[in-house]
Amino acid sequence: MNRIILPDGRELCYELTRKRVKNINFHVKDECVVMVSASPKVPIKYIEQCLAKRADLFFGAFEKLKARKIASANSTESVKWLGKELPINIIENSRETAVFDENECRVFTRDFSAENVQELIKTAKTERFKALCAELNEQVRAELKARGLEPPPAVITIKEMKSRWGSCSYTRGHISINLRLADHPRETVLSVFWHEYAHFWHHDHSDRFYRFLLDMFPDYHKYNDVLKTG
Ligand SMILES: [Zn+2]
Repeated sequence: MNRIILPDGRELCYELTRKRVKNINFHVKDECVVMVSASPKVPIKYIEQCLAKRADLFFGAFEKLKARKIASANSTESVKWLGKELPINIIENSRETAVFDENECRVFTRDFSAENVQELIKTAKTERFKALCAELNEQVRAELKARGLEPPPAVITIKEMKSRWGSCSYTRGHISINLRLADHPRETVLSVFWHEYAHFWHHDHSDRFYRFLLDMFPDYHKYNDVLKTG
């Protein structure tokens, strides 16, 4: 790859291929490189003069390509987050991260490829969900204590699971929460926490288990039943 510095300080990159062509041919390949093919007889200096003369044209073409890439990346799809379908907003930036808020998922990146965008979203979503789970865990433990029950020590693991939304190993003091719950509302995630914590007191799904669970979290069915259908 070669580059020329224009009088106004901008850099223009090009790749030169020597071919048996009559004139010099220019072709904008991606958003920063001009492909040049020219006969072996044409001196470099002349080629670079031609490039400089057409620089505005090339930079205009770069911008168009970039805009098209952003548009296609933006239209890929939305992302599910806590029961909402958030539109993806891609912003050109060197931060390489994704940020979730109430109304949208903003992706800051210089690489608009679908794979990169999806990867940034997945990483951010996992981190946000882990933070939420830490919060919900504290909430459940605090409410148990407020009701005079001492919650046993519990290690929380967030992971993708195929067949279960959560599980509780009451002997080892271990609760697993399915990462896929990040698609569902906060209260639904909370209902899974209550379900798993209830197993510390009742190991099966008996009436006594549900009586305990509903006593602690009366809206259990309202928020948890959605998980049975989808
Ligand atoms: Zn259970």
